[in-house]
Amino acid sequence: MIPFQYARASDVADAISQIAADPAAKFIAGGTNLIDLMKYDVEHPARLIDISQLPLRGVEETSGGGVLIGAMVPNSDLAYHPLIEQRYPLLASAILAGASQQLRNMASTGGNLLQRTRCFYFYDIVTPCNKRQPGSGCSAINGVNRINAILGTSQTCIATHPSDMCVALAALEAKVHVTGPAGARVIAFADFHRLPGDTPQRDTNLEPNEIITAIELPPNGFNANYSYLKIRDRLSYAFALVSVAAALELEGDTIKEARLALGGVAHKPWRDPAAEAALRGERADQAAFARAADLMLREAKGYAHNSFKIGLARRAIVRTLRQAARGTPQSQSVKKIR
Ligand SMILES: Cc1cc2nc3c(=O)[nH]c(=O)nc-3n(C[C@H](O)[C@H](O)[C@H](O)COP(=O)(O)OP(=O)(O)OC[C@H]3O[C@@H](n4cnc5c(N)ncnc54)[C@H](O)[C@@H]3O)c2cc1C
Ligand code: SF4
Repeated sequence: MIPFQYARASDVADAISQIAADPAAKFIAGGTNLIDLMKYDVEHPARLIDISQLPLRGVEETSGGGVLIGAMVPNSDLAYHPLIEQRYPLLASAILAGASQQLRNMASTGGNLLQRTRCFYFYDIVTPCNKRQPGSGCSAINGVNRINAILGTSQTCIATHPSDMCVALAALEAKVHVTGPAGARVIAFADFHRLPGDTPQRDTNLEPNEIITAIELPPNGFNANYSYLKIRDRLSYAFALVSVAAALELEGDTIKEARLALGGVAHKPWRDPAAEAALRGERADQAAFARAADLMLREAKGYAHNSFKIGLARRAIVRTLRQAARGTPQSQSVKKIR
């Protein structure tokens, strides 16, 4: 049992001043990740600042034609919100591919971005782990690394980011609204999560005393041609081995705009401008999809137990793009499009 203090924040300003006053404090929202980490003795905050009652539960259209989602909106409310279902179905699909209904009822939008890796050694406090204890070593590199990363790894960490929702947010080019003692700022989704480099203990570019207040979606939701595919060991209640979010804008058979993001393969949702650029202006066919997959994975590197992810990701990218192009996001059909 870890003793800790508990306090409830009355508003965003109060939450910031409470966290700024105590470096050993942590925010708690739905608690679905943080409480587990405390039970495993991975995280031991001296004080929990409960932000779950803050008035950050709106899902509203912005004047610029996008949508602003409050950080406390539960994952299930977000997935079933009419604005999200109709305009951003890629996001709804990704959320519903994650966790279980009970967990999605508790999990918050902000907390989902900040959930920590599922690397086995991160949770096993008797083994070295640079993310948990900087400088101690990485047990996964020469250990059981079946679930670990194949892209953007470093000598210090090969962990993956486990979120489904974030893969769709990356493809949609969301923005993260945060506030701290120095004021409010907006972080492009691509710049929010970090690669491990020499500082794997830092998952994101959020400062320790900043709070996420909202996620902003741009106007284009790619609601006609999209698909989220999640490959995992069980059909539900399991994290992705590989996942793909694909969004296309088509003019006839030609790809006008393409977005592609991978989950389960890197320390952050993985996007590659070269792969997306290679799709623009091309016919939406198998050959173009295969080229994009090859580009996306050109720097992939497997370890003893996870090399299978490279071929798996390649096939998953092609299939997801095919489903997006057909406008059959959930289709299991094996019919060839051309
Ligand atoms: C068994 C299980 C299976 C799961 N499967 C999946 C899955 O398949 N796919 C998937 O995507 N997810 C999955 N999850 C993860 C789940 O989605 C996350 O635990 C959840 O989204 C975290 O949200 P939360 O509100 O509960 O965060 P919390 O646990 O409350 O907080 C997580 C972290 O975020 C910080 N935090 C929270 N909100 C804010 C904020 N607004 N500003 C600043 N800091 C904040 C906290 O301090 C903490 O460090 C699973 C979880 C479990 C337990
Ligand atoms: S991959 Fe990262 S999280 Fe896993 S053991 Fe190595 S340092 Fe720790």
